[in-house]
Amino acid sequence: MIFPCDKCGICCNHINEIPELSVFDSGNGRCIHLTENNLCDIYETRPDICNVEAMYRKKYCFEMSEDEYIRANIAGCNELKRKYTA
Ligand code: SF4
Ligand code: SF4
Repeated sequence: MIFPCDKCGICCNHINEIPELSVFDSGNGRCIHLTENNLCDIYETRPDICNVEAMYRKKYCFEMSEDEYIRANIAGCNELKRKYTA
């Protein structure tokens, strides 16, 4: 299963909830690397915490299958969307 990011940008607009990304917070929760088109301007070198595949390889592969992990990430995205677009 491939993680189906729709590039909504909601996660990168609320990094104030992610301690590992505090250095990128522009002050209102929006990442300084998020472009106007909701793209990451450091995509190839983005931190692992922003990289679904890297986080699975380095951490979550010891705890669950890849499909379970992807489904958990999709659920997390849906929760963020509900929270910030309601
Ligand atoms: S909230 Fe999820 S779907 Fe939206 S940009 Fe972030 S990872 Fe992609
Ligand atoms: S570094 Fe890139 S992927 Fe990570 S929060 Fe910022 S814009 Fe989003």
